[in-house]
Parts: sequence; structure tokens; C-alpha cells
Amino acid sequence: MMAEVGIPYLEGKYSPTLDMWPIEAKQFNRIYPFYDNLREGKLTTTKCKKCGHVAFPPRVICPECYSDELEWIELPKKGKVIATVEKLGGLPIGFELPLIDAWIDFGEGSPVRHMLSRVKNCAQGDVNEGDEVQLMVFDIPGHPMDVGRESVIAERVYFAFEPVK
Ligand SMILES: [Zn+2]
Repeated sequence: MMAEVGIPYLEGKYSPTLDMWPIEAKQFNRIYPFYDNLREGKLTTTKCKKCGHVAFPPRVICPECYSDELEWIELPKKGKVIATVEKLGGLPIGFELPLIDAWIDFGEGSPVRHMLSRVKNCAQGDVNEGDEVQLMVFDIPGHPMDVGRESVIAERVYFAFEPVK
């Protein structure tokens, strides 16, 4: 797995104020299974056990009926590109050009039909309407966390899609 350039380390000191990635450790949030599942190569989200509503991104409470009885379900690993946005300038610190996002269609029958996601491992102009893309998981810089008296770096991952070769 290639590590993301991500967040700059300033003179060896981590700068949390510039960090735009989610804090993934169990100690910080209740959707940590999402990240654990990503580490296993699975893109997942939550489905309400009461009303069946599927939300993405995952929730801790159902936005439709306010139940907190949710279950984790897996989403497709492949989809088709509907439209793309290529950002060629003015990116936040730590991101490399071009930054490509795509509106992806997972097809009928998928619990989540569409998703806006970053597309990696491709150059400007490489990804077009109708192209097939697949899930990929990548490392991002860890987040410092206090465990007892020690400061440890909690490892992190995130997902994007890449062209199917
Ligand atoms: Zn519900």
C-alpha cells in the first residue's frame, strides 16, 4: 500500500490543526468499525434494523427514525463513473495535483446507489463517464493519541477508487 502524502509534519512536530482526515481510533468515535472494515478491504456503512434505512456515511443513530439499532453492511467494490471533477490547482496543503473526484454509480440493487469519491492512481483525463472503478484503501498519516501516560500514533487508513485495469 502506498502511503498518502496527506498532512505535513512540521519540523518533526505533528500539526493537528491542518489535519483534514477523520480521527479513526475507537477512543474518538463510534463508527470505528467503518475503518476496521476498510483495513480488511471492505467498504461498509450502517443500516437501520428498525426501518431499514441505509445511510452513507455511516451513522450512530438512524436519520429517519432515530433508532440506534444499526447493523454494518458491505457496499460494492466496483462502480461506474457518471461524472468527474478534476481539481488542478488551489489544493489544501499536503494534497497532490491533480485531485480527481468522481460521482460513482454502484448500480441497481446496491444499498447505496451513488457516491462521490476520490479517484487515485490515474492522471488528468484518464477517468471518464462509463469507466469502471474499484475500491482501494490507502494509508494516511497516523494521529497522535494519549494512552495512559504515553503518546502513541494511532494508525489510519482511508478509501478511494481507482480505474479497473
Ligand atoms: Zn431507522
